[in-house]
Formats: sequence, structure tokens, C-alpha cells
Amino acid sequence: MRSLRLVDKIPESDDVTSFVFEARDGGPLAAFEPGQHLPIELAIPGLGEPARRTYSLSSAPGTERYRISVKREPEGLVSRHLHDHIEAGAIIDARHPAGDFMMTCNVCPLVLVSAGVGVTPMMSILHAVAAGDSGQPVWFVHGARDGRHHPLANEVRDLADNNPNINLHVAYSRPGSGDTPGLDYHSEGRVDGALLADLVESADAHYFLSGPTRFMADIQASLEQQNVPADRIHFESFGPAG
Ligand SMILES: Cc1cc2nc3c(=O)[nH]c(=O)nc-3n(C[C@H](O)[C@H](O)[C@H](O)COP(=O)(O)OP(=O)(O)OC[C@H]3O[C@@H](n4cnc5c(N)ncnc54)[C@H](O)[C@@H]3O)c2cc1C
Repeated sequence: MRSLRLVDKIPESDDVTSFVFEARDGGPLAAFEPGQHLPIELAIPGLGEPARRTYSLSSAPGTERYRISVKREPEGLVSRHLHDHIEAGAIIDARHPAGDFMMTCNVCPLVLVSAGVGVTPMMSILHAVAAGDSGQPVWFVHGARDGRHHPLANEVRDLADNNPNINLHVAYSRPGSGDTPGLDYHSEGRVDGALLADLVESADAHYFLSGPTRFMADIQASLEQQNVPADRIHFESFGPAG
């Protein structure tokens, strides 16, 4: 178990906030693979024991800082506590980063498909691709309701703008009046298998899916119909609500 100190708290959208941690003792943190998550524990007043939850690491892989990006669930115990009561200087505990949702190949074409807060594990993968020099082609395909519910949008756009191998497509299901087509989003509607078939120009890509359970199941079925082998489809499930 490692003790971490919150050093930054950054609103990313109407309901997602990022929390950046350093080691409380100032030393290096345990390394993590792009796509992995951080098991955390925190004391919540009134609870007899620490609350335990898991959050994907949304930062570039590194040992100085961890960033997690958390959606505030209106009735959620831990996400509400983090959003409403945890401020810079707060101490939480974390176990070693874990999980087998990992960027398994440094040269293969990758299709990173997310919806909502499911974008988080894709962030560390995207940063790892951008930091590498293989030039592996990446399609980053994300679905959000609108610009107010689109966390980390500028960070993804900057990575795509600066790396010609990263192809970005954002779909808004209900664009807002302030959302600009071609800049904030590229299509109106949901991310589905037909959209992926249109966008992806590689028969041997590896697909990484993260979002609500139903979203991932629909895309998996569609990819299987397109004869994508099962061992090239990887999932991260946050639970039923996604
Ligand atoms: C591998 C993994 C990675 C994850 N990564 C992320 C991430 O990057 N970002 C992120 O935001 N989440 C992530 N999650 C989800 C996260 O772990 C928590 O499950 C989430 O934050 C909800 O926890 P909570 O304590 O706030 O909600 P809980 O209290 O556990 O409640 C769970 C759900 O039930 C609902 N609920 C609770 N009480 C009631 C009630 N009385 N009536 C109706 N509904 C109710 C809540 O709204 C919530 O949707 C991840 C999960 C996994 C397994």
C-alpha cells in the first residue's frame, strides 16, 4: 500500500474531475502499463472501514505522478466524496497499479474506442503512442453527449494535432448550440460498428473498448461480424453504469 498526496484537482467537464497525486514520501511511484488502473482506498467519515474503488490512470505512464479522472455519480459514495470533499493536500492510499487492459503491441495499428468517462484508460495509451517513435497508426474514436460532457477533449485534440499517426473522430449524440462541427466533434450520433468500419483502414488492427456495458457489447458483436478475431478485441468494464 502506498500513501499518496493530492497535488492538483482539475475540472474536465460538467461531471468529470481529474485528481493528480504524488507519493506522500516524495519518492518515485510504481510504474504502470498504459491502460492499467489504480486501486484506491480512502477514509469516509461515518464508514467503519476504508472505501475501496478502482480508477483507470489517465496520465502518461510515468513514476512522478498519477492522474485519475472521476465521473461524479449523483448517488455514488466515493465519486461524490472525491468531487465534493477531497482537496489539494489530502492523503489517500493506493495499491500497485493493476489490470490486464494494456497496450499489448507497440507497433500494431490500434483502434481506441470509448464512450463517456470510458475515455480514461485510452488517455495513458494515447500518451504512450505519442511518446513512442514507432508511428503506429491509431484511430481514437470517442462518443460523448456534447461538449459539456466531453472530458479531456483539448488534451486528445493536441495529441492528434501533433502526431500524424493519430486519427481522431468524436461523435456527439446531442451536440450543444456552442459545439462546433469539425472542431469539437466530427459526426452526430453514437459510436457503433458501422462508424468504425468506415473509419478504420486496417484489417489487422487491435481494438480497445471502454464504456458502458451495452456500448461495448454492441461494438463487439459488430466487430465479430466484420471478422475481427476475438483475440484482437480488448475490453475495460467500469461496471453496469459505465
Ligand atoms: C477497472 C475499472 C476502472 C474504472 N475507472 C474509472 C474511471 O477512470 N473513472 C470513473 O469515473 N470511474 C471508473 N470506474 C468506476 C469506479 O470504480 C466506481 O465504480 C465509480 O466511481 C462509482 O463509485 P461510487 O462509490 O461513486 O458509487 P457507488 O456508491 O459504488 O454506486 C455505484 C452506482 O450505483 C448508483 N447508486 C448508488 N446508490 C444508489 C441509490 N441509492 N439509488 C440509485 N442508484 C444508486 C450510483 O449512482 C453509481 O452509479 C472504474 C471501475 C473499474 C472496475
